[in-house]
Amino acid sequence: MFFPPTILLPGPTPVPEAVEKAMLTAMSDHRGSVFTPVAQRVRQKLAATFHLPQDGRIAILPATGTGGLEASIKNFFSPGDAVLAVLTGAFGERFASIAQSTNLHLDTVVVPWGEAFDPDTLIEKCRKTPYKGILVTHNETSTSVLNPVKELGLKLHQLSSPPLLVVDSISAIPSVPFHMDQWYIDVAIAASQKGFMCPPGLAFVGASHRAIDRMPQTPSGSSYFDLKPYFAEQFPYTPAVSLWYGLDAALDLLAEEGEPARFSRHRLLSDMARGWGLTAGLVPIVESHVIASPTVTALRVTEPLTPATIRGRASDMGLQIAGGMGEWHHDAVRIGHVGYLSPAELFKGLALLSHLIPQSENALLSSWNIWHQAATPF
Ligand SMILES: *Cc1c(COP(=O)(O)O)cnc(C)c1O
Repeated sequence: MFFPPTILLPGPTPVPEAVEKAMLTAMSDHRGSVFTPVAQRVRQKLAATFHLPQDGRIAILPATGTGGLEASIKNFFSPGDAVLAVLTGAFGERFASIAQSTNLHLDTVVVPWGEAFDPDTLIEKCRKTPYKGILVTHNETSTSVLNPVKELGLKLHQLSSPPLLVVDSISAIPSVPFHMDQWYIDVAIAASQKGFMCPPGLAFVGASHRAIDRMPQTPSGSSYFDLKPYFAEQFPYTPAVSLWYGLDAALDLLAEEGEPARFSRHRLLSDMARGWGLTAGLVPIVESHVIASPTVTALRVTEPLTPATIRGRASDMGLQIAGGMGEWHHDAVRIGHVGYLSPAELFKGLALLSHLIPQSENALLSSWNIWHQAATPF
């Protein structure tokens, strides 16, 4: 087709023109005079986005988010290490299975799909067992739940020897508040194709001084993803130069918008999607607004509609939304609202969906009212 699809996906997300243009920058020696200052400022701006502690380090890897998860497991843990994995959905399970494949000694807490983890339950487990690490998902993209990572970090910090807090924040940073430093997070993972408004292909791993101190000498079973040279700001291998240029431009756009505006824009997008779903009869599966994700919304689909028919019809009209994952595959669709997305763009997508779903014309009005009443219309 001549026109690109409209995408309301939790990644990949739309890419701004300034980022596309930056990615066309001519190639040069990645260790030379042209690229070196670019690399330096990208690292600095990225560290600021993570609120990386002063003595922390950040690695930029040529990988998607999952590569960042795997690098974190292999670099900060060794086979046999006792680790607590918190399973809040498909991405929590993925993190745990990576830990399993590295032969870590795994304990799990299983949280019902659609609910957030309870920090106190996790603290209790950590009091009883001296885990080396705890693996959590910040924004569980499969269920559209935002987990209370801040509360967990603050409470873990009060233990006498807390485990390393490792956070998959791939669909959260930089779209929701995140403070590696103030929340005592040891390892945080993010990726280019979500809130960073870039194409897929870069994974980011931020690490605290404490985490780096406790790194085993050699990472288990990984040499390409040995994080030490990446932390040392060397290029052990050829970086994905074009993506770095895109990220450089994207980080400038993010800074221009600023954190308060970005966070409230994502909150508004989430409220609009939830308000639309409630009136359209596609009820948001996450009931409580408090734990509802600012970047993706899972909506329950009931007979005679099915996720496949809604997505198929939308796709025929040029709109792509995501399906349910795992146990929700046949029960849900997910509307992504992350990154380079205005309320007007979301509204356009919801308008199209309203025409595909019988008796949902009023739904647009509720979405409109939420938008109209927002302090900032964006
Ligand atoms: C997108 C995502 C990932 C990583 O997926 P990739 O396809 O490897 O980039 C991991 N965790 C969460 C929570 C995600 O949203």
